[in-house]
Amino acid sequence: MRNVMAAACCLLLTGWNPADQGAGTTKPRAAAPAQKSTMDTIAEQYVKLVLALGQHDADYVDAYYGPPDWKKAAESSKVDLTAIGSKAAELVSALAREREPAGEMERLRRHYLQRQLSALAARVRMLKGEKLSFDEESRALYDAVAPTQPESHFQDILDRLEKSFPGSGPLVERYDAFRRNFVIPREKLDAVFQRAIQACRERTSQHMTLPADEHFTVEYVTGKSWSGYNWYQGGFRSLIQVNTDLPIYIDRAVDLACHEGYPGHHVYNALLEKHLVKDRGWIEFTVYPLFSPQSLIAEGTANFGIEVAFPGRERVEFERSVLFPAAGLDPSRAAEYYEVQALVEELAYAANEAARRYINGQIDGAAAARWLERYALMPHDRATQRVRFFDQYRSYVINYNLGKDMVRRYIESRGGTPDKPAKRWEEFEKLISSPRLPSDLK
Ligand SMILES: [Zn+2]
Repeated sequence: MRNVMAAACCLLLTGWNPADQGAGTTKPRAAAPAQKSTMDTIAEQYVKLVLALGQHDADYVDAYYGPPDWKKAAESSKVDLTAIGSKAAELVSALAREREPAGEMERLRRHYLQRQLSALAARVRMLKGEKLSFDEESRALYDAVAPTQPESHFQDILDRLEKSFPGSGPLVERYDAFRRNFVIPREKLDAVFQRAIQACRERTSQHMTLPADEHFTVEYVTGKSWSGYNWYQGGFRSLIQVNTDLPIYIDRAVDLACHEGYPGHHVYNALLEKHLVKDRGWIEFTVYPLFSPQSLIAEGTANFGIEVAFPGRERVEFERSVLFPAAGLDPSRAAEYYEVQALVEELAYAANEAARRYINGQIDGAAAARWLERYALMPHDRATQRVRFFDQYRSYVINYNLGKDMVRRYIESRGGTPDKPAKRWEEFEKLISSPRLPSDLK
């Protein structure tokens, strides 16, 4: 995974200033390295600590496009975990001594560094063997705790779904039989996916200004625990990988195109690079530690972005008129399919419950898969894939569903309600252009 973390440039200058790395579309900041503030110095040390921790945890550094020599230095020095933990504690104390900045963005920046560093320290403790419960871990790493739902909550939703699929045998099998009618044939996958990307991009660029030279490439891969991944490479470029291990249903085209691309991860990373790295020279945003509060905002906005790009009936209309025909599926069944999907979507938190019980050691992997089959309606192979995801990413699962709900509540509380689409886009853009973390959404 880590070999895709390409650097955006090949400058090897000492005193590298990200504000000087222009794509020509943004105004560079005037500050020279000699005028670095205390915050800039702490930010630089934070980036180096993230890179150092990446030497111990292959999944940790999700993206890096800062100075390439910092990465080389991390690789050659391989600082031990205890030293990384002490340095993180030192930086948290240094931030606490800093006076509260006057401007909102500067306040958010300071809070961002504090929370990201304390999450880094928690990840160090975990790698050293400390056992955290699911909720302790999600609070420490993602700045949030997901609500707990009883089985009865999911059972009520399943009872409603039963009416759509009368018959005997497990509901998951009846649901799966229905869903098999909506698989995108492998040979049509790229064409369908490209249509979805094009639509997501058009809708996004109507409402926000994207960097002129942004783009991404798509690859189809196998043997992964995730279904899609955005590898941000800096310079407004992403590599998006789509896992084809399991059948890809028609709803995944728009979901993946919005989530990984527009207005999801690709746009989030590109706007952070434009507004924070290039315009302000905030070097800390050239690195993205996966197990950190930033991920809740990233996943939450990527999932909520689907509804922002395709509000109300627009999704079904687009699917019926464009994607179903492109996939060779019967367009007259689009509405029926999305009615069922809307109900299944209400089961999203069932994955948190399976993960919570599994991570807390209350159930084993086989029981977690059975829980997912029963309460999240995942067929056996998908449930098994999801348990592998739990093994690799643990409490990260909350970022998708709780993240989405927190982002929705935040944007709606600021007036971005479904009946005000322009305001919804405006607040969405503001959120993904800022250092705001989960505890700042309250
Ligand atoms: Zn994602």
